[in-house]
Amino acid sequence: MKHAPLQLRPYQRKNADEILACLERGVRGVLYVLPTAGGKTVVVVGGVIRTVVDVGWPTVFLVHRRELLQQSVRQLTAVGIDAAIVDPDHDPDPTALVHVCSIDTLKARKGRLAAWLRTIRLVVVDEAHHTVAPGWQALLEAMPNAQRLGVTATPFRGDGKPLGDLFEVVVRGPSVMELTAAGFLCPAEVWAPFSPDLSGVKVSRGDFSAGDLDRVMNNDKVTKLALNSYAARMPGEPAIAFCSSIDHARRVAELFSAAGWLSVSVDGDMDPDERDAAISGLAAGRIQVLTSCMIISEGTDIPVVAGAIFLRPTKSAQLYMQQAGRVLRINPGKRRACIIDLADNVKLHGMPEADRTWSLQHGLIPFTHRTVRCPVCHRRFAPAAACPGCRRTFRGQDAAPVVRRLEQLADSMVRSLPIEDLERIAVNEKDLLRIARLRNYRDGWLYYAKQRLSQRLAKQFEMRRYA
Ligand SMILES: [Zn+2]
Repeated sequence: MKHAPLQLRPYQRKNADEILACLERGVRGVLYVLPTAGGKTVVVVGGVIRTVVDVGWPTVFLVHRRELLQQSVRQLTAVGIDAAIVDPDHDPDPTALVHVCSIDTLKARKGRLAAWLRTIRLVVVDEAHHTVAPGWQALLEAMPNAQRLGVTATPFRGDGKPLGDLFEVVVRGPSVMELTAAGFLCPAEVWAPFSPDLSGVKVSRGDFSAGDLDRVMNNDKVTKLALNSYAARMPGEPAIAFCSSIDHARRVAELFSAAGWLSVSVDGDMDPDERDAAISGLAAGRIQVLTSCMIISEGTDIPVVAGAIFLRPTKSAQLYMQQAGRVLRINPGKRRACIIDLADNVKLHGMPEADRTWSLQHGLIPFTHRTVRCPVCHRRFAPAAACPGCRRTFRGQDAAPVVRRLEQLADSMVRSLPIEDLERIAVNEKDLLRIARLRNYRDGWLYYAKQRLSQRLAKQFEMRRYA
């Protein structure tokens, strides 16, 4: 069967070509970064795998959850690539060039499949932020002839730590802000009618402890606030509620149902068919509010979802961005993504489109992404002269745009961060001089960097005037 070539958007074509150029140069580990809903599958499957298969490279496509095996095979088939699954019941098919495997299977069968693994030329690691040395290091070393392509929206680990041990070169797609401005993602509107008191909540392994969170969030007072906000801001629209425990998710679904909305909860203990039916019910309009603890934060692609209800405070910028990313996808008739934040996640991590900085060596750079909450309508937004919800005007700090200060960065970071990121953080000539001094850049660089800075500041000023 002949398949039409996938239509790649201009940035997708450009990114695919950049990745292929890295592979051609022999780069061992390439990390491709693109926000959730930016269409990474199109780039990786239609742009990259399609090309390497045509030149005969045996390729492994690694997913971290078994539920994603079939979905990945379908995506490959859609562009005319025959892919075989390797799992506990299936050995590698010697006639196939592309093999879809779950990480657990490959880890468990690494020894027995050693000869086959040595034939692999490209290994694609989906959701590459889950890679954790040393287990991963060992697995990837079992494929000594393979170059690796990691793909992620959040290029750092759950605790913000870097991915530099497994990848050397980064290919950057457009940011959430750029994709939104270009109409490839929906703009997010955030409503924050409640601030949880998290002072007594313990933190373990970098995030709030689940048991303590449940005590603060799993009660009818908070759930009723969620209900009222849903009814006021997006009545009947398909939404996902992210809860702090399975019990919490069930209770929230109960109360939403009692109020007349079509609501169910999904969790990992459910029969997979039942769970899939619930998720597809959301797409088909049989369900309005799906509640869950962790199960749909990642990998679940439901473009129709227009709203998120945050009921699980998290310190993980990664989890926050994955959850917010679920609702930003564009869909016919969908004008915006509505986020009801009862967890103060947007307050802590910034708007979904905030310009985040990270590097392979340092992980996520912990800048604050300031937001303001309107006391009248409870809209939360990046500082601006007027509330986008009710037009109430703001002054002083609340109206001052967020400026990131290069001064917050240590010398070692100024030496090692990608230069394009440093230039974005710089706000004046003093910043540029510091960069030039610490990185031993010549006057020529400084001359052009100053020009780029003044152009950027002029553009920002224009945008503010017409915002
Ligand atoms: Zn307002």
